[in-house]
Amino acid sequence: MVAKIISGREVAEKILTTDLRNKVIKLNSRNIKPKLIVILVGDTKASASYVAQKEKFAIKAGIESDVRRFESTATEEDILNEIEKINNDKDIHGVIVQLPLPDHISVTKVLNCIDPSKDVDGFTPTNVGKLFLGEDTLVSCTPKGIMQMLASINADLNGKNVTVIGRSNIVGKPVSILCQQQNATVTMCHSRTRDLNHKLADADVIIVAVGVPKFINGDQIPNGAIVIDVGIHNIDGKLCGDVDFDSAVEKASAITPVPGGVGPMTVCALIENTILAAERTLDSAWEDSNFWPLASEANALSNWATGANI
Ligand code: NAP
Repeated sequence: MVAKIISGREVAEKILTTDLRNKVIKLNSRNIKPKLIVILVGDTKASASYVAQKEKFAIKAGIESDVRRFESTATEEDILNEIEKINNDKDIHGVIVQLPLPDHISVTKVLNCIDPSKDVDGFTPTNVGKLFLGEDTLVSCTPKGIMQMLASINADLNGKNVTVIGRSNIVGKPVSILCQQQNATVTMCHSRTRDLNHKLADADVIIVAVGVPKFINGDQIPNGAIVIDVGIHNIDGKLCGDVDFDSAVEKASAITPVPGGVGPMTVCALIENTILAAERTLDSAWEDSNFWPLASEANALSNWATGANI
């Protein structure tokens, strides 16, 4: 069997230029211009290239994006102050802080400072908690992109076995929840897992987010499984994933390539979350104008409630 290649590049292009573009046009017609801010501290080469891709995708969907750059010597307070400003700016709908941060800045403090309604990376405790509870939320981007890739090939997870390798907060854990929400039976594997091959043997879908180049090869993949490779590594100038593509492609029924697989879908999901956050401001504007009485009405209501003559 030679696997179908699931091109994240193509799926992302389609979502960006059709669904998302149309949503942005509708928002623009109501005077809302979705805007994403990326906070970049220091200027590592890898971060700079991610940021460039985010800007490119933002343009494709027709949203505004901006980068707030800080020197690597910036203090934690500088970053927290910037986030506070963004939280209070009604014209900004989404903010992400590009990780990693320099050691002297607490990632936890920074993420906790972001207004959950603008947390388009889906990393704040509020949004992670809502995902866990199955509530409507901004879902973190890589897991969201993975689910969209599975949907693009009409993969039905109902009752299927999904093996996830890696239990990080940004990939493994959230994607396992999303798969369970689609009624998959999920096996979570990590560095202490015994007999990994056994956990893979009856998998219908394998999601690999380990961070080790070519960690999984074709011999470990059951015939016909769908393989999602999240890893990305630069080995001597050549990119590869956590899966040995050449051997895996002979066993899987469908597989994501690296590059051009999960990476573009992650960025696409970020743009989608920004648009979703912008759409939700319309909901809250509606709630503000319909549910919440004007100050004079509120006084009257409270007088009525307390028995005063109105
Ligand atoms: P991470 O936080 O480093 O977590 C790696 C996970 O793999 C951990 O849960 C670890 O187990 C597990 N692991 C490590 N060695 C293992 C082994 N020998 N057997 C089984 N499990 C093992 O990684 P991450 O942030 O999820 O990222 C994983 C990879 O995906 C990286 O290459 C990263 O660059 C890439 N990535 C790509 C995108 C994208 O958009 N394409 C997005 C995010 C991440 P323990 O918990 O026991 O330590």
